[in-house]
Amino acid sequence: MVSILLLLSLVSFAGEVVGSGSSASDSTVRGPVRGILNAHEYQDKMSSSENTSKVDTLTKKRPKLDGGGTCTPIVKSPVASENMVSTPPVVSQNDEDVSKPSNKCISQSTKRDDYISWDDYFMSVAFLSAMRSKDPSTQVGACIVNPDKRIVGIGYNGFPRGCSDDVLPWARVPKEGGSELDTKYPYVTHAEVNAILNKCSADVVGSTMYVALFPCNECAKVIIQAGIAEVVYMSDKYHDTDSCRASRKMFELSGVKTRQHKPQQRQITIDFGPHLN
Ligand SMILES: [Zn+2]
Repeated sequence: MVSILLLLSLVSFAGEVVGSGSSASDSTVRGPVRGILNAHEYQDKMSSSENTSKVDTLTKKRPKLDGGGTCTPIVKSPVASENMVSTPPVVSQNDEDVSKPSNKCISQSTKRDDYISWDDYFMSVAFLSAMRSKDPSTQVGACIVNPDKRIVGIGYNGFPRGCSDDVLPWARVPKEGGSELDTKYPYVTHAEVNAILNKCSADVVGSTMYVALFPCNECAKVIIQAGIAEVVYMSDKYHDTDSCRASRKMFELSGVKTRQHKPQQRQITIDFGPHLN
C-alpha cells in the first residue's frame, strides 16, 4: 500500500525561516507524491527536537463504497503528531467538496460530512508542495488562492532555476574557514516568492497565501507588492525574531491580513493502494 499522510499540526514547526522559500532548479510543483510528510519535517531536522507535540492519534477510516473499492483519500482524523501532511495533488475547479471521491457512493443518498475544509485543503497543498524541496533541513510550501477559491500559484523552497541542487551548498553553517557563500542562504528562494513567481494567473491581487511558516521580512515585501490580501500560516515559531517583527509591521501598515491556521483534522491520508492495479 502506498500512502501519504498529510498531517496538519497545531504545533509550531521546528525549522528556520530562512531557506523556507520555495523554488528549486525545477521549482514547478509536479510529479507523484511519496512517503509521509511530517508537518514539522517542514522545518529543520536540526530543530525538530524542539517539536514536542504529543497528541492522541485517533483514526477514522472512510466507509467502504458499495460501488466497489474504497473512497479515497482516506482521512484519518484527528491525528496527532507534530507533522502535517499535504493535500490531494489536484485542484478543484468547482465549489463542490474537493475531497469527494469520483466514484460516487451508490448506497448513500446524502453527501459526505467528513470532507476537508477549504483551509485544510489549501494548507495541505502547501505542505504537499514542500515535499518537492531538496533542502535537507527545511521544507516549506506555499499555495496562493484567488477570491474564487482557485489555486493560482504553488511554490516551495529551493535554488533558482538552472542552479543545480547538486552544486550549490545546502549547509546552514559554513565549514571552518568558510563564509556565508558556503551556506544555502545566499541562494535559496523561499516558498512564498516562488509561489508568486509561479502564478498561473495575470496577477495575485486580492488572493490568499497559505504557507507553512510565517513569512520572513523579505518574503513579506514581495507578498505585499504582489497585492496578496491575506496570509494564512501554520507555524509562527520565529515570532520573536526581528525578521518576523518586521513582517508583522509591514503587513499591518499595508493592510495585509494574517491569521494562523487551525486545522480541523490532524492528519489527511492519500492512499494510492486501491488504485495500484
Ligand atoms: Zn521568506
